[in-house]
Amino acid sequence: MSAPGTMLIVGAGQAGAWAARTLRESGHAGRIVLCGAERHAPYERPPLSKGLITGVSSVADSEVLGLAEMEDRAIEFLPSLEAVKIDPASRAVLFGDGQKISYEKLLLATGGSPCRPRLPGLDSPRVHTLRTLDDALALRRAFAQAPRTVIIGGGWIGLETAATACSLGCSVSVIEASPRLCGRSLMSPVSEWLLERHEAAGVRVRLGHGVTALNDDADGIRVRLDDGSVIVADLVLVGVGMQPNDALAREAGLDCGQGVRVDAACRTSDPHIYAAGDVAVLAHPRAPQGLRLESWQNAQDQGVAAARAMLGQTVAYMPVPLLWSEQYEHMIQIAGFPNLAQHTLWRATPGGGRLYLGVDTSGVTVAAVGIDAGRDFRAARKSVEQNAQAPLAGYQSCDASAPAGSSANSELTA
Ligand SMILES: Cc1cc2nc3c(=O)[nH]c(=O)nc-3n(C[C@H](O)[C@H](O)[C@H](O)COP(=O)(O)OP(=O)(O)OC[C@H]3O[C@@H](n4cnc5c(N)ncnc54)[C@H](O)[C@@H]3O)c2cc1C
Repeated sequence: MSAPGTMLIVGAGQAGAWAARTLRESGHAGRIVLCGAERHAPYERPPLSKGLITGVSSVADSEVLGLAEMEDRAIEFLPSLEAVKIDPASRAVLFGDGQKISYEKLLLATGGSPCRPRLPGLDSPRVHTLRTLDDALALRRAFAQAPRTVIIGGGWIGLETAATACSLGCSVSVIEASPRLCGRSLMSPVSEWLLERHEAAGVRVRLGHGVTALNDDADGIRVRLDDGSVIVADLVLVGVGMQPNDALAREAGLDCGQGVRVDAACRTSDPHIYAAGDVAVLAHPRAPQGLRLESWQNAQDQGVAAARAMLGQTVAYMPVPLLWSEQYEHMIQIAGFPNLAQHTLWRATPGGGRLYLGVDTSGVTVAAVGIDAGRDFRAARKSVEQNAQAPLAGYQSCDASAPAGSSANSELTA
């Protein structure tokens, strides 16, 4: 039997927390249950690869929805509790401790888990992944010894942790299998800038190489690369992406791709079940396979949107992706769809920053990347949101050593 008035949220991360808060703020008077597999109250993950490891920020700074607020808002918080099965027919969720909670509406906000490649030696105690607060606290303890560090994966988490480790005096190598850094989420000139910045900090970056094995020995852990070379380290961080935690949804027969498929109202293929955050794949006109975002902003906004939709409000959540990263002293902001860019333009911004625009074949700005570009980035982000033609004046093309307005780039104005 369903439970009229009970809003059940599985996953107490950024999306789940914002959904719980929004349900109450939007006037829901019934039961709100927020359950999470972790032992902590909801917290933000961005500090985990940055200030939480260096000690600049504390665990308390990362809180998204504290115990006191949950008590005030009568949100029932069930930590350390894993949902193991959804029964859509009876509208109930079964938990690891044997209890069953019935719902009127269910939100899946289960996020993702780090990918673990099949690699001999991956079970070594020197090998870390980074997704949770407990992972970050373990890394903080390990980095206190300034270990020789190898990071497998040159994506956001790998690079942020590389910068953090450098700032703590570690010697750092980054191994990336593809030919460039953050290849899935940046235009290549920005990847080149990142490479230069990390190398300038002393990070040894090996692009186009995979790791074939890890072996512990008396001197540390030996990281073997596919060209036969070996790097000896004290600590290895595996940062090769995440898998959406969509097993519950799959087993319940919900439509899934690389995550749980949702529409603009955050609804899954079951009208009583919603999904938000890293686990949700949104049907989106610019992404034929669906759009699954791994970003703080999306987790918050989609959590809010899902809560409103669960209350029957009209919701049309169709975001322009927005992400930021902090590495060394730099703030890097990305808006839009860098993978759709055919050309890249750039210009310097006041104060020593850089602004890159990704432009498609018809001259539309499909992505903007700011490096310490503050206000200029915000203006460029608006252009992306409005599908505006790229403003060529003042920009240089990254595709040829010619100014963007020259004949070499005339197709951009078409
Ligand atoms: C180290 C790190 C740094 C990041 N830095 C940035 C950044 O600088 N900028 C940015 O934009 N984004 C950043 N992100 C991404 C951003 O934090 C995520 O996109 C966001 O946390 C996703 O929120 P979520 O609620 O969807 O998932 P999560 O925050 O992962 O929360 C999901 C929760 O669900 C729980 N759960 C899973 N399965 C079950 C189950 N069966 N039963 C109960 N509970 C379950 C999990 O334990 C987890 O607590 C970072 C992520 C990480 C890991």
